[in-house]
Amino acid sequence: MKCPVCGGECIRDAPEVIGSLPSLFSRCKRCTFRVLDKSVPLRGRYFATPCECGKRFIDEVFAHLYVIMVEEGIFSGNEPLRAVGSPLLHPGFFMSSPPFLPPDSLVLLSPLVTGSAAQRMVQEVPEVRGVVRSGDFVPGATDPSLAKPPRTYELLAGCDVRAGVFPTGAGPLVIYIQQSRMHIEVPRLENPKITSVERHLASHSPAWCVDACSGAGTLGLCAARHGIPGVILNDAWYAAAFWSATNLQVNRMFLRTGEVRMRSNLDTMQEHPVRQDPVLVAEATGEQSIRVYHGDFRQLWKVLPEEPVCAVLDLFEKSDTRRTGEAVREWKSRVPGEVFIP
Ligand SMILES: [Zn+2]
Ligand SMILES: [Zn+2]
Repeated sequence: MKCPVCGGECIRDAPEVIGSLPSLFSRCKRCTFRVLDKSVPLRGRYFATPCECGKRFIDEVFAHLYVIMVEEGIFSGNEPLRAVGSPLLHPGFFMSSPPFLPPDSLVLLSPLVTGSAAQRMVQEVPEVRGVVRSGDFVPGATDPSLAKPPRTYELLAGCDVRAGVFPTGAGPLVIYIQQSRMHIEVPRLENPKITSVERHLASHSPAWCVDACSGAGTLGLCAARHGIPGVILNDAWYAAAFWSATNLQVNRMFLRTGEVRMRSNLDTMQEHPVRQDPVLVAEATGEQSIRVYHGDFRQLWKVLPEEPVCAVLDLFEKSDTRRTGEAVREWKSRVPGEVFIP
């Protein structure tokens, strides 16, 4: 599948990604490394170049980025190494030791980086695949009422599409996102939301599971991977709905469906970043039936099957118990079945 952001080969099927993991970030016998203190400035303007195997220890990559930030006048040289930004690996998965990075495996998120520094990072640092200028907010449609316009980070150079590998009780899922448009979900050994969904499905065995605020689709696709016969994913934010659909495609070989039929594409969806009435984005049918919609979860009842469904409401503002309670009550007044917050 061609990457809709850069046109490259960023998106690969889940089995290929999972198969590459065991050795992806490990060193060869010749790889050298030094562990740098992230809380102090980089001493000297030195960084090691990649090993002949093509990999380089993450701290050296950070040293390289630090030097560019000094040369570009963003740093004075007194900033600690960690001020370079947040390294997001591609593909990201739970790791017990720091990685040796192959080419094209890192998206840098930084609130300080400039356009010219970002260009240099993508051109001169082989491990960097994309540079995103971040802000002190969460990107996407984070207001449950959809009243506040969504905000996004800015992709300054390269491509910010990256995958995370999330373990589930039925096996791993590969979940792609566009980093400047969606919030960061870090793959952990234990994912409480996935566990909560699995526990719920095991005790209820529903015919339909609805992931009503799906984000990139992790929880809905977890239900699908557990063999739930009917699964519906939905999100009001175009990027979430689009990547949910892409992730259905990427993980289709774990499901009992035929081909995934995409009904839209990223450019078309971007014209209506936030939708109210649900629009079908992708579907796959077979022994299992899986559909992805772009719309407000409050309107999703219009396209749901006329039978009880098990709904997962993964609302962004869970801490606001009054609004969460309202959302659950409104859902229940329209949709038969049960609803739970993971
Ligand atoms: Zn790309
Ligand atoms: Zn090496």
